[in-house]
Amino acid sequence: MISDAPMFDPDTFGLTPQQRELTGLCRELGRTRFHERAFRYDREAIFPTENYLDMHAHGLLGICVPRPYGGLGADYPTYMLAAAEIGRYCGATALTFNMHVCSCLWTGALADDLDMTPEQREEHERRRAIHYARIVREGKIYAQPFSEGGPAAAGAAAFQTTARKVEGGWIVNGRKIFASLAGHADYYGVLCTEVKENGELRRRDTLYLALPKDAPGVRVVGDWDPLGMRATVSRNLLFEDVFVSDDEQLMPQGVYYQAATRWPHMFMTLTPAYMGLAQAAYDFTVAYLRGEVPGMPPVKRRMYPTKQLAVAQMRVMLEQTKALWFRAIHEARIDPTKEQVMRAWAAQYTVMENANELAQLAIRTCGGQAMLESFHLARIYRDSRCGSLMLPWTAELCLDRLGKAALYEEGESDD
Ligand SMILES: Cc1cc2nc3c(=O)[nH]c(=O)nc-3n(C[C@H](O)[C@H](O)[C@H](O)COP(=O)(O)OP(=O)(O)OC[C@H]3O[C@@H](n4cnc5c(N)ncnc54)[C@H](O)[C@@H]3O)c2cc1C
Repeated sequence: MISDAPMFDPDTFGLTPQQRELTGLCRELGRTRFHERAFRYDREAIFPTENYLDMHAHGLLGICVPRPYGGLGADYPTYMLAAAEIGRYCGATALTFNMHVCSCLWTGALADDLDMTPEQREEHERRRAIHYARIVREGKIYAQPFSEGGPAAAGAAAFQTTARKVEGGWIVNGRKIFASLAGHADYYGVLCTEVKENGELRRRDTLYLALPKDAPGVRVVGDWDPLGMRATVSRNLLFEDVFVSDDEQLMPQGVYYQAATRWPHMFMTLTPAYMGLAQAAYDFTVAYLRGEVPGMPPVKRRMYPTKQLAVAQMRVMLEQTKALWFRAIHEARIDPTKEQVMRAWAAQYTVMENANELAQLAIRTCGGQAMLESFHLARIYRDSRCGSLMLPWTAELCLDRLGKAALYEEGESDD
């Protein structure tokens, strides 16, 4: 039987009562339902619809919806810990869940930390109530299309998807690539740039709008046949003169830019899916060497010193990854220190790279039979390779920022 002890033992890691409950719930759903379904979702590259129905039935779609709006009111670390347990059993479910949850986390706990005028706050309260009611009561799903194939998703330029103000709302035009949940989300939480009179596009004018999937002018295009994370169905989106009403604005004007600059851990929420995969690669290896993987003859391989050494190496890497990640997710806050942001980049890099390193060690250690697609390990290996590619904190960009931050203080240059 593959181990399903909690990834973070509640007593050892001092989990709160809610963290204990939600990690337990996600682990149970993952183990009993998501794990087996993952084969078909991956093979056919189809969206995990049944998993979402289960998550809705257990209140998880509203995990980060504040309690006054009927949600579970989980804070940032609680969400991260719960999502990691899902990632352990189905990486694509955890990754798409992140896209959905961001629409609640950013508009919820994060927005509560940000500066707004009393008028903006009142407007935000009224609008987020609309969007939370859809999620909590109707089980609606939100996607998070961000990437455009240009420099915007890395935070280096304004989004080229634009929103022009018109009477009662906005007209949106543009294109997003790699939009997880494309064709399956009910709303696309689109980041776009407000067009000012002089036509200039500025990052500080970023808008965050919910485009209904059936709004005229919204189209899902392109194929989806990738290496890994196949069940995310991250196809492209086209927006041609899409009208959305003012109430579909998920954050008041200017507030997304404030979030991106003052709450940087918001970009670390892609890591739980991969933290879970790292644990899964290790768990599989232990079970395999003990002769306990379902579907395999009960042949033990644990008595070979080479296997023991390889598992020891994996355990060290897993412990290092978990410890750093656990620390970093508990440092998420508004206006973190430079040290905390650097630790977040280091944690992001470590989780994304080590998840795949652990998966490749697992394949080498378990051997040929273990990499057949009839076992979970092949999918874990393919899925885990995608983590380092995810903007805005790709593995490369984390190293780039860490190196600069380590060597330069604010305002320093060599000119
Ligand atoms: C499974 C999966 C699901 C995804 N789901 C979503 C989603 O739901 N929503 C979404 O918005 N995106 C999503 N993405 C997209 C992801 O974040 C990337 O935008 C996407 O992989 C496209 O990246 P690229 O490597 O082609 O980008 P490019 O922009 O071509 O970047 C290539 C590499 O160059 C480096 N680079 C880029 N910009 C800079 C810079 N300014 N300075 C230095 N180096 C730079 C980065 O390391 C990057 O990896 C998903 C990706 C995957 C793989």
